[in-house]
Amino acid sequence: MFSVVGFSWIASPAATELETVVMDWLGKLIGLDKRFMSIKEDGTEGNGGGVIQGTACEAHVVAMLAGKERTLARLMAEGASKNDCDQVHPKLVAYFSDQTHSSGEKAAAVIGCRTRIVPSDSAFRLVKGALLAAIEEDRQAGLVPFFVCGTFGTTNTAAIDDLPGIADVAAAEKLWFHVDAAYAGAALVCPEFRPLARGSERADSFNFNPHKMMLTNFDCSALWVADSTHLVSALSINREYLPRVKDSTSFAKDYRDWQIPLGRRFRALKLWFVMRMYGASGIRAHIRQRVEWAKWLETQLVADGRFEIVTPVVFGLVVFRIPPSALPAGTECAANRANAELVKRMTADGRVYLLGTSLKGMNVLRPAIGSTQGTQANMDLLLEVIKEFATAVVAESD
Ligand SMILES: *Cc1c(COP(=O)(O)O)cnc(C)c1O
Repeated sequence: MFSVVGFSWIASPAATELETVVMDWLGKLIGLDKRFMSIKEDGTEGNGGGVIQGTACEAHVVAMLAGKERTLARLMAEGASKNDCDQVHPKLVAYFSDQTHSSGEKAAAVIGCRTRIVPSDSAFRLVKGALLAAIEEDRQAGLVPFFVCGTFGTTNTAAIDDLPGIADVAAAEKLWFHVDAAYAGAALVCPEFRPLARGSERADSFNFNPHKMMLTNFDCSALWVADSTHLVSALSINREYLPRVKDSTSFAKDYRDWQIPLGRRFRALKLWFVMRMYGASGIRAHIRQRVEWAKWLETQLVADGRFEIVTPVVFGLVVFRIPPSALPAGTECAANRANAELVKRMTADGRVYLLGTSLKGMNVLRPAIGSTQGTQANMDLLLEVIKEFATAVVAESD
């Protein structure tokens, strides 16, 4: 119906301004700090703001570029020459945990910086002490830490990193602090989950995917920055054929300066429809239903007696396994073989599809309940298939 290519305000004032408005709505809907809003409470334009990216991977790249830009600008302000900055570039280090999504390392590969993978703690969280130790070691080696990613809801276990601790370290060490909430961020639409995201109000950038648990068709990844200065200076390139024409009465952003591509779709309209159709209460009900199903599955697996819940069920992710105690051999090795086999059999069967993962050497299964079309009947089938193949795998286990 529409063929909008809204790279600049002038190319589509409607696509641009609706995006500014819906991103502020969405930010308020998840309780995001005021710093991230485009329009301040007094009606004037703030330094922050949201932008719709295609995916969390792109958001990661964009956040990292802004972080690099800010670090280089600071070094120049402290007296470094252009040549000094060229020397710094290969020394830049981005920090992740061993549980950070692959998008972090990919972003580092795209911008060409070093990465440091910090070991997570026993609850699979990136914590302050381990991060600080890694940074100190790198500084002593003459490297330049510039970026850290804290995850709200990791991919393997939906763990929540020590966001307040990471915020402290980022402030003290002058790192760009990016919060990757790609999966679990949608849960923040429900106020009861917001205390878990404490610390993210001090981030430089925050990203979550409405295209995951928030009823929006792929692609739609929401990214906010608290101060867009360095993002825009990293990504704005001027040409005669890209005029910056603005209607002086509007808050006119040129979103091409907030993303990698030039052309952009009218994705704000999609988000507008989701918010208008479901409303806050409809979106909350949708998310709470998924979390309830996940807890239901947890209860059923525990009641069965042959399964162990490996990490707490907080959102829609249920991480479980057949433990050594349920197998004749009773060893971790046998459990790893049995759980890998369980995933393999279920995949080959084809009625349900779920992924396994490895947590510090332990094979587990991790169904994620979140899709728009989910039903109780799907959940019943999932449980039935898990139980059926667990029976076969346990019987055949040596
Ligand atoms: C899904 C996910 C991503 C990647 O999302 P894309 O939009 O596919 O790039 C990144 N981080 C986390 C924590 C995720 O859950």
